[in-house]
Amino acid sequence: MRILVTNDDGITSPGLLTLVKYLKSVGTVSVLAPDRNWSASGHVKTLNRPLRVNAETLADGTPALSCDGAPSDCVALAALGLIKEKIDLVVSGINPYPNLGNDMTYSGTVTAAMEGAIWGIPSIAMSLDGSGNINHLDFSGAAATACRISKQVYEHGLPVKTLLNVNVPNLPIDQIQGFQVTRLGLRVYQDELVRREDPQGRPYYWIGGKPPTGIAEDSTDFGALAAGYVSITPIHMDMTAHHLREAVSTWVW
Ligand code: MN
Repeated sequence: MRILVTNDDGITSPGLLTLVKYLKSVGTVSVLAPDRNWSASGHVKTLNRPLRVNAETLADGTPALSCDGAPSDCVALAALGLIKEKIDLVVSGINPYPNLGNDMTYSGTVTAAMEGAIWGIPSIAMSLDGSGNINHLDFSGAAATACRISKQVYEHGLPVKTLLNVNVPNLPIDQIQGFQVTRLGLRVYQDELVRREDPQGRPYYWIGGKPPTGIAEDSTDFGALAAGYVSITPIHMDMTAHHLREAVSTWVW
């Protein structure tokens, strides 16, 4: 199987390198990733400027391509023919922070996999729950998990417009409790408006505050991670609120 690996932290990120090393054991890997960090860039389609692609070499000698576009641009370019061979699977990651609940549409990692789903390619987003211990990231468990999930997805396929969002505890594979297939949980953002002044006295703003937390409810992505399990959430690109159609139809139109 031909696997396209991309990432939202950039071509030099350790999560990408570990993912590529491991996925070589299950398929032929092509790498096309952004040339810089696009974390929390959301789902991007760059239309108003050219996209440049450069040949790169990863730290282990693997040939790769970098692009000055977003992660989702990388997947679109590959699907449009920049990668000549047919792509059987897109794997995006491994992000050093988890992507849970409402993170879905902010995440460069997840939206790269969404782009794969739009192109009809089975796609997986891989994130590590490094938030509690960002100075001691162990990508090996998440990379081994990516291999296992890639084989399953290749065997079973995924329906159109769907992808798998995977979050893995920051542990070696033999210390992970197992797998839970989950639903999106409730992310709790602790964002605060931070107002400062530039040297000319004009105000500027940051979205500041503490990192997000979440509700560790059973059967959710956050709950699975909190209990030491790999969380696998099937995601659907159809964002229609079907349960609201009838009620909205009764309004005065
Ligand atoms: Mn990232």
